[in-house]
Amino acid sequence: MIKNPFQNAQEQLNKVSFFLEIKKELFNIIREPQRVLEVNIPVKMDNGEIKIFKGYRSQHNCALGPFKGGIRFHPNVTKEEVMALSMWMTWKCAVAGIPFGGGKGGIIVNPKELSLGELERLSRGYVRAIVPIIGPETDIPAPDVNTNSQVMAWMLDEYIKNQKSKIKNQKSKIKYQISKFENQDDEEKLKAAFTGKPLDLGGSLGRTEATGRGGVYCLNELIKHLNISKNDLTIAVQGMGNVGYYFAQLAYEQGYRLVALSDSKGAIVVEDEKMGQLNPKEVMEYKERTGSVVGFPGTKNISNEELLELNVEILVPAALENVITEINAGKVKAFIIIEMANGPVTPEADEILNKNGIIVVPDILANSGGVIVSYFEWEQNMKGEKWEESIVNERLKARMINAFGNLWKTKEEKKVNFREAAYIFAVDKVVKAMLNSKL
Ligand code: NAD
Repeated sequence: MIKNPFQNAQEQLNKVSFFLEIKKELFNIIREPQRVLEVNIPVKMDNGEIKIFKGYRSQHNCALGPFKGGIRFHPNVTKEEVMALSMWMTWKCAVAGIPFGGGKGGIIVNPKELSLGELERLSRGYVRAIVPIIGPETDIPAPDVNTNSQVMAWMLDEYIKNQKSKIKNQKSKIKYQISKFENQDDEEKLKAAFTGKPLDLGGSLGRTEATGRGGVYCLNELIKHLNISKNDLTIAVQGMGNVGYYFAQLAYEQGYRLVALSDSKGAIVVEDEKMGQLNPKEVMEYKERTGSVVGFPGTKNISNEELLELNVEILVPAALENVITEINAGKVKAFIIIEMANGPVTPEADEILNKNGIIVVPDILANSGGVIVSYFEWEQNMKGEKWEESIVNERLKARMINAFGNLWKTKEEKKVNFREAAYIFAVDKVVKAMLNSKL
């Protein structure tokens, strides 16, 4: 039976409890989110009807700093999924060495069925519903599956309007000057309430590509540590969204041989598996024209399940969770899996992959490039700075190399696998921060 993502997240945590000397009470705290808000969002549809959408914001742990994590729009969103994603964010921020805790949000919706106006009203309605618990120093949302910088722009605008009207109300009630948000600088800081924003609203250069870029830096570090050459290493990437596309494109630019790609409609593999390769930019242009990667010239159509079992060296799940399970784990032929999606491998599958000697670079390290550059965006907004793209990328690279090195060291010292090393490192750091703060 496939467990829900939160059960998986708890199980991953249980597995490393043996290596950590944590008091039971503390362990019980980190096993659950600190707060989960469930909201019902009424949205006026284009036909005049009012439809209610359910959404969530889960705040797992803030010992290291404000809660941080994306907002997902998907028909399969569940409370448990959002809770799991918020817990993974806590560990991810700890691994990445940034002063944030873990949060995540989601709305049960198929955004492809909404008009642009309906999507905007839903985004704004969600912010009005969660506004009491978010802010630049409390909880900072960002994009995730099916949300992008446009959605962040609507959300930020709604948030700023809300904050301004709150200040106006306070002023008229208590009739004395409130200095908060009085000047331009303070209003600039409000922009730090969301990351992944458009550039002209305080977004950071390099944020869009950051998750994929960070994943490629991580892969480069891995092959360096394994002492193998990247020449002729073949890669299959599942998912052609923000994460999958930029990972594929940067890997391609750096000389890896990309042989298979996919989206929700299906997957493609080069006809000539020995020599052929895909140029992700060309595949993306084709997808934008036709609506899918399926049918790209010079490729065979296969299913998303078949993509996971291809004879490649590197497999990159970059779509959704629970795609490698106990059912198909034994059929994976790649010897490296880079988890660019969150939670793509179930704990049962992890054991099988481990036994088969497959190296799994865990999501909380592999896809941490996104939250690292989100942190840079937040820092730029808080300090009123704008960094060059080359600086953003350099700083991202330095952090990814450092995070990789920390986990590699833990893995070697404790004689555990990569995921266990990541959990040991992250949980230890969060628990120490909890002990240093008032619980
Ligand atoms: P996205 O919406 O931009 O893209 C998702 C992609 O997955 C699309 O190409 C879609 O067609 C494809 N897809 C959906 N269902 C599929 C299926 N069943 N099989 C194959 N492909 C399928 O989302 P994204 O931002 O790229 O996020 C992808 C994953 O990466 C998620 O797990 C997300 O939580 C994680 N992630 C995202 C970021 C970020 O910065 N966006 C950061 C860290 C982790």
